[in-house]
Amino acid sequence: MIPAAFAYEVAESVDHAIGLLGERDEAKLLAGGHSLLPAMKLRLARPACLIDVGRLAGLSYVQEEGNSIAIGAMTRHKDVADSSALQEHCPIVPYTAGQVGDPQVRHRGTIGGSLAHGDPASDLPAVILALGGELVARGPAGDRAIPARDFFTGVFQTALAQDEMLVEIRVPKLGPERGWSYKKMSRRAQDWATVAVAAVVERTNGSIDRASIVLANMGGTPLHAAASQKAIADGASIADAAAVASEGTDPPSDHAASADFRLHLARVLTRRALEEAAART
Ligand SMILES: Cc1cc2nc3c(=O)[nH]c(=O)nc-3n(C[C@H](O)[C@H](O)[C@H](O)COP(=O)(O)OP(=O)(O)OC[C@H]3O[C@@H](n4cnc5c(N)ncnc54)[C@H](O)[C@@H]3O)c2cc1C
Repeated sequence: MIPAAFAYEVAESVDHAIGLLGERDEAKLLAGGHSLLPAMKLRLARPACLIDVGRLAGLSYVQEEGNSIAIGAMTRHKDVADSSALQEHCPIVPYTAGQVGDPQVRHRGTIGGSLAHGDPASDLPAVILALGGELVARGPAGDRAIPARDFFTGVFQTALAQDEMLVEIRVPKLGPERGWSYKKMSRRAQDWATVAVAAVVERTNGSIDRASIVLANMGGTPLHAAASQKAIADGASIADAAAVASEGTDPPSDHAASADFRLHLARVLTRRALEEAAART
């Protein structure tokens, strides 16, 4: 439970942090530390240098920008959960932030850390992907926007380059025609999801005709339940669409559940999520 030795730097600005990332070998940003420090204590991560960005207050905000809401990467889960702008315009995000860990975790952990960590069992990556959100990375050459569908590349892997920092997350405002749901099953109250399902549906002519459904912990990254989405677009019932939710997934077997149980959970939670999302339109 004691990490390997590491150097420690405090970043005074985002540009300073990016400069240090480029200069130092095997450097990692330290945000809330609630994923990185446990991994270091277990020796699953051994960065040679930690760059502490936890004091960069300028990256903690939630603000409306036209049809989107911009969330600073250093915004803590608690502040995301309490944001009135998100509660009004994109309630799936604050609801899900309130499902992360326990109050201690939510007071330290950041939305940027959760996304940059790339854990397929995490809650917020599934939701940002279901919303079709965008992630803004800053590096030596400036900012680039990465669609959420291109951001998660593997287990604990993302599209961020070594010298890039995630600075902002953008999500769309959901109008009254769009309903949402996040269904998470975990063994203990503060745990990561055994399986979770994020659903955003759209009703145009009386019925649900589009759904974005994302599964957490059903593979190496958060995954769209593509067969269910197609079934909804083709006019299938919610029950029939949910029945194919696990197609194309490759869930792990571990201490929390067997792969077979996860396949079952994906179907059950997708049905519940679609029913709840449809009722909210
Ligand atoms: C007891 C416990 C229970 C938890 N339960 C849950 C849960 O139920 N659901 C859930 O989703 N999560 C859970 N978590 C994880 C929690 O959400 C973490 O806060 C989050 O995953 C990481 O955020 P952080 O700010 O702590 O990041 P850190 O741990 O500081 O960093 C994580 C990784 O992201 C990188 N990073 C951080 N910020 C940036 C940035 N802005 N740009 C680029 N790279 C960056 C770091 O270098 C590191 O590699 C739990 C954690 C604990 C300790």
